[in-house]
Amino acid sequence: MPPKKEVAEERLGPWALGKFSSRLKVGIVGLPNVGKSTLYNTLTKCSIPAENFPFCTIEPNETRVNVPDERFDWLVEKHQPKSIVHPWLEVCDIAGLVKGAAQGAGLGNAFLSHIRAVDGIVHVMRAFEDPDIVHVEDRVDPVADIEIISNELRQKDLEAIDRRLADLNRDKVKANSNPANKKEWESEMATVTKVKEYLESGKDVRTGVGVGDADVWNAKDIIYINEYQLLTSKPVMFLVNLSEEDYKRKKNKFLKPIHDWVMAHGGGTILPFSGELEAKLQAMGEDSTESDPIKREAEADAMRAEYLKTEGIVSALPKIIVTAFKMVQLIYFFTAGPDEVRAWVLRKGFTAPQGAGVIHTDFEAGFICAEVMSFADLKEFGSENEVKAKGRYRQEGKTYLIQDGDVIFFKFNVTTPKKTLMSDKKK
Ligand code: GDP
Repeated sequence: MPPKKEVAEERLGPWALGKFSSRLKVGIVGLPNVGKSTLYNTLTKCSIPAENFPFCTIEPNETRVNVPDERFDWLVEKHQPKSIVHPWLEVCDIAGLVKGAAQGAGLGNAFLSHIRAVDGIVHVMRAFEDPDIVHVEDRVDPVADIEIISNELRQKDLEAIDRRLADLNRDKVKANSNPANKKEWESEMATVTKVKEYLESGKDVRTGVGVGDADVWNAKDIIYINEYQLLTSKPVMFLVNLSEEDYKRKKNKFLKPIHDWVMAHGGGTILPFSGELEAKLQAMGEDSTESDPIKREAEADAMRAEYLKTEGIVSALPKIIVTAFKMVQLIYFFTAGPDEVRAWVLRKGFTAPQGAGVIHTDFEAGFICAEVMSFADLKEFGSENEVKAKGRYRQEGKTYLIQDGDVIFFKFNVTTPKKTLMSDKKK
């Protein structure tokens, strides 16, 4: 749950919606045959091997993708550490949403429940034409596709809201017998009624806060909405799958109608990509006879770079990953030293002790302070000592909100004999 104080004081924005957790993931959603698996497979190829997460179960349809970051690369270059842990994003492949899913068509409800489990939605839309690849609705029309999907999600949310409404009506007499319960009941009833009307008017819940002038949801509404985990409250981005040719010339007849539709429905980032191109790049070097995997990958990278240079294009994957990561309000801080350079992923709005808790729960419980420098200062002044000399090295307390790119060293107390433990860097 978001820290209530901040929710009440600041103008609410899209950041207020969603789980306050550092384990957030995005799901790839779209009609069949639009290029979801192609995208997922290419992302998987640049993922972090599962053995780097020894204490976590990773579902077969989930992958952890490296988030490219020049700041991280700079820290690695500077420290030449023994070990590195990249920032990463958990991506989930949610196959097979079709029209009628909300009524159970296709694998309907199962897929909708998979969408419930993710924190952000990456909509893949098909804007490439290929007579050999069947379109589930028998025509290529990405705007109609996105209409189908958003209608399904809204219907599902309406069902959830109707269920909640029925529960509230059932509990009315009991709740009204006690003033505190009555107040809570009335407050929730007000939110539920508002959300129902909003959905019935054809709008997605996410568009009711911080979009343009829209401040439909107040802080109390947000708390209930976050409890309900509504599908249309999740942030979305749109990926338009183009043929390589269209991607290269940056032209496709669907781009404008898609843009118009997205703008008319609360906005969101639209990124063109080409499944065809990304799959081609991934396949490069597959027939290499080089036996050393590192050399083989270097060869493949060189081939990809050469191809992209000749064609005058770039792969869309890095931008897709970074945009998806930011969309779910994730950030990271760094711990950096000769032993390890590591990015710690957490939700925007985490306080310093909560951030320490991402490293270890003991760090949160025994939090004393965080010694912080911004990455920008470290880069500008060149070393921790110089940052200190310039008076830019800070000691932050319990209420400090961690900023993306902070380089942090936590001090904390534990009940064990060691009074302060090094997070990483001063060993
Ligand atoms: P999904 O059902 O959405 O997961 O779709 P897939 O990723 O399995 O793609 C369906 C088919 O379309 C596959 O045969 C892909 O090779 C093909 N495909 C994906 N992206 C492109 C593209 O950009 N251009 C063309 N021509 N085919 C593509």
